[in-house]
Formats: sequence, C-alpha cells, structure tokens
Amino acid sequence: MEYLFALTYAFSAGMLAVTIVSTLITQDRSEPLVRVFVAFCVTTAAWNLSYAVMAIVPDPDVVAMVYRLSSIGWGLSPSLALYYGYRSYVTYLGTNRNRTVEMLIFLPTPYVWVGVFSGTMLAIGFERTPFGWREIMDASAPANYIFVALTVAALAAFLYFGVAIRRRCRTNRARLHAALLTYPLTGVVLLVVVFHLTLPIMGVATLPPSAQVFIAAWLVVVGSLLNRYPVFTVSPRIAADIIVNSMSDVCLLLSNDGTIQAANPVTHTLLGYDPAQLVGRPVGSLFAGGTSLAAHTVTDIAEVLRDGAPQEWPATERTEVLMHTASGGTIPCTVTATVVHDSLRDPVGSVVIAREIRELKRLASLASTDTLTGAMNRRRIEELIEHAFSDTGRRSSKPFSVMMMDLDHFKSVNDDLGHEAGDRVLIQFSEIVRSSVREEDWFARWGGEEFIVVAPETSDGTLAAVAERIRNRVAEYDFGIGRQVTCSFGVAQAGAHESAPSAIKRADDAMYQAKQSGRNRVVITEE
Ligand code: GH3
Ligand code: MG
Ligand code: MG
Repeated sequence: MEYLFALTYAFSAGMLAVTIVSTLITQDRSEPLVRVFVAFCVTTAAWNLSYAVMAIVPDPDVVAMVYRLSSIGWGLSPSLALYYGYRSYVTYLGTNRNRTVEMLIFLPTPYVWVGVFSGTMLAIGFERTPFGWREIMDASAPANYIFVALTVAALAAFLYFGVAIRRRCRTNRARLHAALLTYPLTGVVLLVVVFHLTLPIMGVATLPPSAQVFIAAWLVVVGSLLNRYPVFTVSPRIAADIIVNSMSDVCLLLSNDGTIQAANPVTHTLLGYDPAQLVGRPVGSLFAGGTSLAAHTVTDIAEVLRDGAPQEWPATERTEVLMHTASGGTIPCTVTATVVHDSLRDPVGSVVIAREIRELKRLASLASTDTLTGAMNRRRIEELIEHAFSDTGRRSSKPFSVMMMDLDHFKSVNDDLGHEAGDRVLIQFSEIVRSSVREEDWFARWGGEEFIVVAPETSDGTLAAVAERIRNRVAEYDFGIGRQVTCSFGVAQAGAHESAPSAIKRADDAMYQAKQSGRNRVVITEE
C-alpha cells in the first residue's frame, strides 16, 4: 500500500517536472510571473518527492530527516504561491510593488523551518500507517495554532489578490488568470490545513497526507493551459505576435533560400492569399515587375527575392515594387527586408515587410498631373529636369532636346467661342502631342496654352522633325470649332555641358522668334 502512495507522489513530481520544462520552453522566461510560477512548481515537486521517499523508508530516523527536508517544499510553497498572487495583483492592476508586503509574505517560511528543525512544531514523532509514515502531532502545541492562523491569513490574502484581479481588471486574460490561480489553490491549501493540521490535531489520522498531490495536479493543468493561452502578463514575444497580426503591412517570414515560412493576415485582406497556402512558396513569385524611383530597379528586387538571397538585401532601403494579387492583378508597394540572425549570429532567414501605396501613388499622380490635359504639370517636369540634368545629376555628356510650344492667338479662341471651347482645344492639342512623341519623352503643360517636351538623349534634328510633324497635324486637325488652330515651336538641343534652364530659355527664345516671324512654324536654335 505504501508503495502505491510513494508511486502517486513520485508521479505527481514527474508531472510537475513536465510542467516546469514546458513552461520554460513555451513562456517568456524573463517574465517575473513565469519565474515565480516555475519556482512554485519546483518546491511542490520537491515536496512530493520527499513524501514519496517518506512513504517507503523503514528507519524512523531517516523519516525524521526526510520530513525536515520536505519542509523546504511545504514551507516555501505557500509563500511562493502567495508571492505569485501578489505579483499578479501588482502586474495586472498596475500597482507599485511594496517590499514590506513581499517580506511579510515570506515570513512564515523561516518560522516553519525553525519550528521543524528544532522539533517544537508539527511532528513530535512518526508512526507507521498503511500509507507510509506520518507525523504524530502534539495537538495542544501553540505552534500548530500559529501555523494554522498563518495559513488562513495567507489564504485570505491570496483570495483577496485573485478577487481584486478578477473584479478590477476585466480582460479575459485577467479573468482566466484569477480563475486558474485563486479558486483552485484556495481549495487545495484548505486541504493542506485539513489533512496536515486539523485532522491530526483532532486525533483523526486515518487519511494519507496527500494534499500536495492535488496541488501538483492543479499546477499540471495550469502548465498545460499556458501552452494555449497567454495567461501571464503580455510578454514582448506575445506583443510581437499581436503587432505582426494586426499591422496593415504585409509581413513575410522567409527562410534563407527565400521560401515563405509564415505570412500575416494582411496577405489575405490585401493580396487575397490564404497565409497558410503561402507557406513553402518562393517569395519571388509574389513580386511583379514595374518601375521604381529608388536606386534599385524592380527587376533587381524581384531577382534578389527570386534568388532567395535576402542576406544581400540593403536592409534600410525602401524600394517600390508591384506585388501580385491572388486574382491576377498587381498592387504597388514599398518593400523592406531585414535579415534575421540566430544567437550565434548566423543568418537564419529574413523578414520582408511590404506596404501598399495605392493612395500614395494616387496623390502623387494628382500632385504631378495637370487636371485639364492629363499632361505632367510644370512642378513635376521641373522636378524631373532637376533630378536628371542638374549640375550634380547631369548624366555625363548625354544630349537632350527641349521643345517649347505656344498656341497661336489662343486668346481669341476664348474670346470668340468661350472658355470651354478653349479647354477642348487644349485637351485635343495635348492628345496630338502625346501621340507624336516617344514613350520616354517628357510632356508637360508649362502654363496656360504653353507646353513643353523634353526628350532625353535626343539630338536636335529628331525633335525638330517631331515638332514639324506636330505643327502639321495641328494645323490640319479639325478641332470642331469652325476654325483652324495653329501653334508656334522653339526647339533647342542642350550641348554637352549646357544646363537645363539655359536650354529651356533658348527654346523659349526660339519660340518667340517663331511668333515674331509669322507664327505656325518651328524655329530651331543652335547653342
Ligand atoms: P500668341 O499667338 O501671341 O501666343 O497669342 P495668344 O492669344 O495665344 O497669347 P496670350 O498670352 O495673349 O493669351 C493666352 C490665352 O490663353 C489667355 C488665356 O485666356 C488662355 N488660356 C490660358 N490658360 C487657359 C485654360 O486653361 N483654358 C482656356 N480656355 N484658356 C486658357
Ligand atoms: Mg499663345
Ligand atoms: Mg502664351
């Protein structure tokens, strides 16, 4: 029979060991509550283990020694439980820690030990029972009553912490915490008092001292729930999960070879992919081509991601890319990638964060487009010119050409036919110019009925020919206003080291000459 009890105690200790290990693995070890919980489990396991030994050893002297050792477990365990309750209370309710309260919590522990080791408390001898050895109590010893009083006070404090957490902190986590922590422990500590003190003092000593087995069972339940619920306070790890899952950017975790390991819910809401189905796919398959204003072209990025070598990624750089959606479309995004290192500083993968910029693109396009004609506005083309042909940005000695255009006698169109007819002419004129220049040429409304084309890497002759073609098309075009519209042109080619403003001024002067010499003509200027 005693072997059965020894086995029960040993089994409880073993189960607690599992709880301890799994808690240490799954929980954030830097969290104070986790540490106190583990310490509590350790003392309870030690308590069970020493009772397992006590059940089977034959020598009463050895029993007395093991009994004293077991007091490390049962002497410390209630204090740790209480301390755990107090720390939870402080953490959940945001109260400041009080060192005096913390010291008071541990006060019974040395008291218990002094009592046990001096032989004045609890056991005055041991007797053999069917379930192993148990202590003979001196029912009238005042120490016993003090011990009962301390235990009851601790219980009251413990209950207070749990109820306060449950009532004043109304989150599900706090409720679960309080329910797991307070009510079961109140029950099992009551069992301790009954089994170990009240019954022996009353002379009823036929039950095995097995309250700690119930505590162990309860701790195993709590430990297993820890794997599913963040019972403890929010740890950085849990917070990081929450941030990633609630952020509005696509977040992808990649292995070293560029395979997707995890994706956050935005991949579904934004791109339409089920995050689970993305796992195992090469990240490059999510990225399409496109144009980029950043130093890296989109093809570069797609290649970097397709080659699965994110270690090479310029970590701080935001790059513009197009991402594929599940339905076959694309969404413009900026993307950053950061390499993740393990504790030995080897790269183990990377995190790619993509932010959709549709609204940004829309606003940028609004800010750079002329609303009437759809051509670039002056601000935008000046920005492009500044970027490409400023003294520092001047691309070696590559040539560029400028064409200035101004509609002839446009004021009279407005005056005779109305402003709206003038607007329609401007729109149709723009359409003619747009369809006459190359894709890579920049076409902008310079102001009023004046337009500009900048043709990078183009010689004078080419753009002059284009100007002549536009002049012809405009002159022959039926604008539907009952009269012909003509336009005057000035064309300038920037020499190897001429600045953009100087070339623009020359084109403008040439256009003025075209006006002077009768309008509806192209004047070409040499540097
Ligand atoms: P010139 O041949 O010398 O260029 O004569 P012009 O009448 O074209 O020149 P002027 O600069 O005197 O007049 C330009 C006119 O263009 C004045 C203005 O009413 C008109 N204009 C400017 N912007 C717009 C616009 O957005 N819509 C319309 N309908 N007219 C515009
Ligand atoms: Mg004009
Ligand atoms: Mg004008």
